[in-house]
Amino acid sequence: MDSHEFRIRGKEMIEYICKYLDNLESRRVTPSVEPGYLKNLLPDEAPDDGEDWERIMADVEQKIMPGAAGPACTELETIVLDWFGKAIGLPDEFLAFKEGGKGGGVIQTSASECVLVCMLAARAQALKRLKHQHPFVEEGLLLSKLMAYCSKESHSCVEKAAMICFVKLRILEPDEKSSLRGQHLLAAMEEDEAMGLIPFFVSTTLGTTACCSCDNLQEIGPVCQKFPCVWLHVDAAYAGNAFICPELKYLLAGVEYADSFNTNPNKWLLVNFDCSTMWVRDRIRLTSALVVDPLYLQHGYTDSAIDYRHWGVPLSRRFRSLKLWFVIRSYGIKGLQNYIRHHISLAKRFESHVRKDRRFEVCNDVFVSIMLENILKQNINESLKL
Ligand code: PLP
Repeated sequence: MDSHEFRIRGKEMIEYICKYLDNLESRRVTPSVEPGYLKNLLPDEAPDDGEDWERIMADVEQKIMPGAAGPACTELETIVLDWFGKAIGLPDEFLAFKEGGKGGGVIQTSASECVLVCMLAARAQALKRLKHQHPFVEEGLLLSKLMAYCSKESHSCVEKAAMICFVKLRILEPDEKSSLRGQHLLAAMEEDEAMGLIPFFVSTTLGTTACCSCDNLQEIGPVCQKFPCVWLHVDAAYAGNAFICPELKYLLAGVEYADSFNTNPNKWLLVNFDCSTMWVRDRIRLTSALVVDPLYLQHGYTDSAIDYRHWGVPLSRRFRSLKLWFVIRSYGIKGLQNYIRHHISLAKRFESHVRKDRRFEVCNDVFVSIMLENILKQNINESLKL
């Protein structure tokens, strides 16, 4: 959408809101639909081609408004997260609407929150197992044994999550390509276990903040499985958006071992802040760490509907899936792929300029764009002196 169309659509939206306010009395107070209604009204997959604004707005009026804030807010989130999860190539186990599926997606405020929530779930799962094995040992002592792992290239949010969760974190050296390797992780976990510590959480990154490197999930996954109860998280906050392109899906190799995955469309997919999408393989393992169920929040749809208040910290939630839905539908998957490919081609072009300039050095593989920013940051002071 260019600025000309934005001006027109913006005015139309104000008109829509004013009409809504002026005609409030003609609308229902409670929704006219039952939970589960929206799934039957929307396609199972994101559209390949972009759609007209009129068509999307018609769906807002006909399909979303009858569902009011609830259940439409929850249901659109689940549906769009299935669309997006499929589009970036996550395994079926991460989707909510698969036959017998136990997984599902949710929108959190930030990647940091995704990592924290997954670490909390992993901690609850580990403590439950340990309490069962050692019923007479005090919980504080069990907690003091838990050890999480990440690479030196992981975002600092992993350190923050460990701080909040009161667990130890071992930060490991990656290899010369800034990738955390399985053997190195295994050695650390075995060493800790020999000292009486209990590995429970490994946070990996696809597209690290400083140099956009990827940890080796294909090696790390089997290492995690050697231990009784280790939760493997994949933080792809930035680069995960690029997996919408088939030619970049090879970077996801090993994701089949993961328990949870996050990427932020607000970082690189035209969605404004905040929109951090997160998926889990087993939603019960996530929610059982976070359920508090006072009488005034109970309802009769516990078995049939997803209740996102158990998927994170907040109770009140905004209708964040609307903007992701609008972006995916307006551009279509092909439009979003073109957007990412255009950025990558600019990055490659810039890389070729950098390679010709002896003041700079390309210090890692360039598969998406951010690496080049890093080269500049590292060398800019030096080059200014020349
Ligand atoms: N993880 C990675 C790989 C990041 O690059 C960043 C931010 O740059 C974060 C996590 C934190 O993101 P947020 O601001 O959404 O918490």
